[in-house]
Amino acid sequence: MFKEPYHFNIERYIDPKRFEQIKSFAKDIPKPVLVIDTKIIESKYKELAKSLPCAQIYYAVKANPMDEVIMLLASLGSNFDIASRYELDQMLRLGISPDRLSYGNTIKKLTDIAYFYEKGVRLYATDSEYDLKNLAKAAPGTRVFYRILTEGTGADWPLSRKFGAHPDVLYHLILESAELGLIPWGISFHVGSQQRDIGQWDDAVARCKYLYDAVAEEGIELKMINIGGGFPANYVDPTFSVPEYAEEIMRFIEEDFGDNKPIIILEPGRSLTADSGVLVSEVVNLSRKSKNNLYQWVYLDVGKFGGLIETIDESIKFPIFFDKEGMAEEIILAGPTCDSMDILYEHYKYHMPETVIPGDLAYIFTTGAYTQSYSSVNFNGFPPLRAECLID
Ligand SMILES: *Cc1c(COP(=O)(O)O)cnc(C)c1O
Repeated sequence: MFKEPYHFNIERYIDPKRFEQIKSFAKDIPKPVLVIDTKIIESKYKELAKSLPCAQIYYAVKANPMDEVIMLLASLGSNFDIASRYELDQMLRLGISPDRLSYGNTIKKLTDIAYFYEKGVRLYATDSEYDLKNLAKAAPGTRVFYRILTEGTGADWPLSRKFGAHPDVLYHLILESAELGLIPWGISFHVGSQQRDIGQWDDAVARCKYLYDAVAEEGIELKMINIGGGFPANYVDPTFSVPEYAEEIMRFIEEDFGDNKPIIILEPGRSLTADSGVLVSEVVNLSRKSKNNLYQWVYLDVGKFGGLIETIDESIKFPIFFDKEGMAEEIILAGPTCDSMDILYEHYKYHMPETVIPGDLAYIFTTGAYTQSYSSVNFNGFPPLRAECLID
């Protein structure tokens, strides 16, 4: 079996000085606690805005809906893509003007559309006949964009199948929109979250162009394409950088649209917030299931129900650091609840120094997105994941 000293490349995930600050900040807070470094979110936003200067950013609120995060992004000029009346209430409570909001969920009740319209939201996504009719009824005269189905190939967290429709379906919806008094405004897609294959945007942009041309023949001039989310965060599996994504995607758009470039919207979630989070967790227990089992089980105080649901099928591989020295051993990692699906990683083997004992801490990096908002309210009595912003 594999034997060498434990090594973890911290610098790949965090500035070591900042890490020391986070450790001392978390020291007196009960574990587990998610520490969000808002400085990272600010630099991620600025990097993205600089890489795509002609695009409008609509932050996907679901990734990390903490008030501090929303307020920070609002102050930097972001717009917001929201998916429910509850997210809308939060935006309004924080004083964000409805003209900076889009209702990007294609699954919505008629009463919810009416609520959004009444509050002043004038930009909606759709992908189906019933939804379009509801929009015409409850949000008359508003701008609509149509979501294309993508396969999610190449993404660590695919959003395929459930959203969007084939261009043939959208073509008819677009023509019908004009008759219903809505404004057909653009096409959207989402290539899948943590999309590691930039080429997926190439296919999707080409489909947008196809639809643009098809409806132009019927006299409808679309104005916008929404290139979705899918931009990467820094997990165990490497990716290209966000500026590299931006450059490639702009090239795809220029190839297809030439001088007739549409308005470009994007809806980043993960890439803006994931890298800002350090989840400070405690080792609850260690055990070996039989005398000659190769792998030790390591139980943390956070698991699938406490915020790490994206470990389903080991899809997202969070970097996990044990702050001790010693020989490395391969382990199986699990959460604290009484549900046998609460196992984090069994096939992909994480390393831990042999010297770790219950009570030691484990630092889980890149946990600023899709963690706290996903944590369950009361399973086994465990409260939702506590999150604190480090602001200085
Ligand atoms: C979740 C979601 C996003 C954000 O995706 P990321 O991969 O986290 O950037 C963007 N747009 C829509 C419609 C979404 O549902």
